[in-house]
Amino acid sequence: MTPQEAQKKLQELRTELNQARTDYYTKDAPVLEDYVYDQKYQTLLQLEQQFPQLVTADSPSQLVGAKPLAEFTKVHHQVAMLSMGDVFSLAELQEFDQRVQKSLGQPVEYSVELKIDGLALSLVYQQGKLVQASTRGDGTIGEDVTRNVLTIANVPRKLPEPLDLEVRGECYMPKAAFTQLNAQQEKAGKVSFANPRNAAAGSLRQLDAQVTAQRQLSTFIYTVMQPEALQVTTQAQALAKMAAWHFSVNPERLVSSDLTEIIRFIEKAQTDRDQLAYGIDGVVLKVNPLSLQAKLGNTVKVPRWEIAYKFPPEEVETVVRDIEWTV
Ligand code: NAD
Repeated sequence: MTPQEAQKKLQELRTELNQARTDYYTKDAPVLEDYVYDQKYQTLLQLEQQFPQLVTADSPSQLVGAKPLAEFTKVHHQVAMLSMGDVFSLAELQEFDQRVQKSLGQPVEYSVELKIDGLALSLVYQQGKLVQASTRGDGTIGEDVTRNVLTIANVPRKLPEPLDLEVRGECYMPKAAFTQLNAQQEKAGKVSFANPRNAAAGSLRQLDAQVTAQRQLSTFIYTVMQPEALQVTTQAQALAKMAAWHFSVNPERLVSSDLTEIIRFIEKAQTDRDQLAYGIDGVVLKVNPLSLQAKLGNTVKVPRWEIAYKFPPEEVETVVRDIEWTV
């Protein structure tokens, strides 16, 4: 492909993907299927890698989420809420592991977790009291959804100790609540939601907290921003501590440096995903020691110390699986 052809193709992809991002993040009403978005995004990344001089500031590769809705009070995140790199095959997962080991010059242990299909949430506690909840927004500025989050039953209002602490996690809508909500929407002649992720986003980002209260939202917490305050030095310890402090922490997790064992966990998660009460779209590997995470740092968009292995979409799963899982 010539640079001129690449430029034209990139322009097309940017326009199409940015429109899809508005539909997905701003309107909570996606038009493209996620796997179609992901394929087009991968094409964009590959072209940008081939022609780095053609990367523009408005490329989806440089952007996290979308600007907050004007109706909400804005929250400036102390530390940016980033996106996450993803891979679609075991070969790419191995490459990630090799890249991490090479950068660190040592074998690495991972905290392996389910990738919950919801939207990112930040919870800020002052003196042990929940004072602010916000969405990711564009990574730097999110939407204040404190009143809405106070309607979610499994979010602790108080910590056992009077600490200043921020935790982050995923707000999601359980599958049963989603089915019920769409039935109600239909009955009321309203538009139904495309999937539980969009239903969760649409329900959390409500101006009237009473609407949110009826939507049966839930959370899984997976990050603590001040690990030193909790005296933890690994991601796994942080998860255990947050569970002990009555946050909802997903129980399906593994700590391992053995890729074969990690792949078994991924296969099992993929087989079991239908039985879960909530949606997952992959498995996340995070470098377990927090000091090594800090060493690896972030790009403008994603941490270098974590990766999502994305599952093939359920409807095309058998086809993709046959191709991908032979590597
Ligand atoms: P992402 O959703 O792929 O991954 C990052 C997010 O994963 C984090 O922000 C966090 O909220 C979440 N997460 C869930 N479980 C986690 C765990 N255990 N640990 C850490 N984080 C966890 O990234 P993104 O940038 O928000 O969105 C990109 C994805 O959104 C695309 O891959 C695509 O599937 C979808 N998308 C779809 C469309 C569309 O038109 N259908 C448009 C835009 C984006």
